[in-house]
Amino acid sequence: MRRHLFLMITLVIVLAGCAKPPSDTDEKPKSFSGRMDLTDSKMKADELVDLNGEWAFYWRQLLEPKDLSSGTEQRTGYIDMPSNWYKHTMDGDKLPRNGFATFALQLRVSDPDQVKGLILPVMYSNYKLWVDDRLVAVSGQVGTDRKSSIPQKSTRVVYFHPQSEQVQLLLQISNYHNYAGGMWEPIVYGSASVIQNKHDWTSAEQYLLLGIIFLSGIYHIGLGSFHKKDSSLFLFGVFCLVAAIRNTTTGVVPLTKLLPNFPWEIGMKLEYITLYLMVLLLALFIQRLFPEESLRRFTRLTFVTVIIYSVLTMALNADQYYRILIYFQLFMAAALLYAMTVFVRATLRQREGAFYAMIGFSVFMLTAAFDLFRFLFTTTAQIVYSLGVVTFIVCFSFVLSKKLAVSFKMTQQLADKLVELNEGLDKKVRERTFVIEESNKKLEKLNRQLREWSMVDGLTGVSNRRHFDDFLSSGLAISREEETPLTLLLLDIDNFKRYNDQYGHIQGDFILQEVAQAVKSCLVPEDGGLAARYGGEEFAVVLPRCGKDGAERTANNICEAVRQLQIPHVQSEAGIVTVSIGAATVDSDADKDYKKLIELADRNLYKAKSRGKNRVCFD
Ligand code: GH3
Ligand code: MG
Ligand code: MG
Repeated sequence: MRRHLFLMITLVIVLAGCAKPPSDTDEKPKSFSGRMDLTDSKMKADELVDLNGEWAFYWRQLLEPKDLSSGTEQRTGYIDMPSNWYKHTMDGDKLPRNGFATFALQLRVSDPDQVKGLILPVMYSNYKLWVDDRLVAVSGQVGTDRKSSIPQKSTRVVYFHPQSEQVQLLLQISNYHNYAGGMWEPIVYGSASVIQNKHDWTSAEQYLLLGIIFLSGIYHIGLGSFHKKDSSLFLFGVFCLVAAIRNTTTGVVPLTKLLPNFPWEIGMKLEYITLYLMVLLLALFIQRLFPEESLRRFTRLTFVTVIIYSVLTMALNADQYYRILIYFQLFMAAALLYAMTVFVRATLRQREGAFYAMIGFSVFMLTAAFDLFRFLFTTTAQIVYSLGVVTFIVCFSFVLSKKLAVSFKMTQQLADKLVELNEGLDKKVRERTFVIEESNKKLEKLNRQLREWSMVDGLTGVSNRRHFDDFLSSGLAISREEETPLTLLLLDIDNFKRYNDQYGHIQGDFILQEVAQAVKSCLVPEDGGLAARYGGEEFAVVLPRCGKDGAERTANNICEAVRQLQIPHVQSEAGIVTVSIGAATVDSDADKDYKKLIELADRNLYKAKSRGKNRVCFD
């Protein structure tokens, strides 16, 4: 993978290098003494020619075609184009940076019946161009002082039809705003179709680059705003956006194509300030990306330098801040070298993505160097630089995506682990819950049993004395509240002592159980009555909501049920086991006292005993 990338980038550099064949420079035609012959048989029809060489030069004169034809002009001399005129000497002195001049070039063209074209570069700081006697291009306003001169930074393409083999180019330039006046890049000449083709490609390349950088900026800013912890994404996004803005002020200058009246001074400031910011953003970005290989001090120094330069650029005029630009360029060269060392160190330490960062940056650095000295390389520099920027963006996007991918992978792994843990936890909770539920059920059962045991008499299976007491108390309370009657029956087995004596205690116990069941069988569950063992061989029956009549019936039923058992008892008058019952009823309006009720029932039981046993006795 690494090898492929490396090969690809090498190929890009080699191809970029091929964009300008070295043999071209030697054979390209040049103008001499303001004349240029383009009829050379060796020249191909589809060739583009830079109109380099000696142009006739008229310092501090703004001439028009008619002035040339009348021959009244005073030629200053010849000047090598493209150039800044301040490098030109006149009478032993260098010309001032500001001023105005006319430049003329006589072309001898082949195929004059064919339409020709010219690509006009940015000139400082404005110009006017005539082909023969026709005004073909105006950029800004040429003037004779700062007031009348209006700068504009724009490129133009013009087409013309030569009237003969001889074509006269006349160019006026004035400069009162830029650092140096003149033409910094050559005018390109060719047949109309070739010129158009060249211009289309140059524009397409720049707009494509602009689109790529702009979109990459938006994309990374978007990513960065969702991924706030890692500011390198956001910084890279802003870096791309700033680079995109700078891109609109260079090359074919898309800014002035879109907004022809965009103020020149602001456009220039934008071009330089974006350059400073790019350096700063790069330093910050590197600091975030490889913090351990970066020098915090250098980042701070970059910050301070960029702030100073930005403030100066905002406050000063173009011709002033251009003078200090050289120092920034030196600083920038140092910053680029510093960045390179960071990437190399990060690569050696095998930091994530460092290798790609180093490759991308190397390509960018090479092409940035071309851009920095583009006056040496002129037309081809742009192609190299564009490729450099694209490679840089692709490599760094790759580095950042790799970084993101690593964190995504980690998140995914953690999420998987969490799901696994959750599932385990779920299972454990389910198991625990099951165990707890089971124990709860057992406990509940035990409780129920305990409750029952605490309420039930162990021998006979009817309620015990304690439960009887509770039941009677609450029965009386309800009876008071509802104003309903309640009856209590007290029951005693007749001659039981003798029974024991006769048949033994174990048999006696059995009889107790039999009698208890007989008593119970006489109660209707729906009536809510309670049968209890009151003590020894005595039983009690509580009949809530039951008056004397109903109670008497139940009591007699009980007596009869016991008799029906037909348990032999030879020591008893009846010959079988019988019971005596004393009953007491509290009516709805009676005094409902627990103690009194029991006493009354007890008294009636005593009465039943004394009246001959085996009977029921009410009041
Ligand atoms: P009465 O007709 O006057 O009631 O004569 P009684 O013999 O039944 O007299 P009393 O009620 O005083 O006798 C109670 C007897 O009941 C005494 C005891 O032997 C017997 N008894 C009390 N509790 C138990 C018991 O749990 N099991 C057995 N087998 N006998 C008991
Ligand atoms: Mg008794
Ligand atoms: Mg008895």
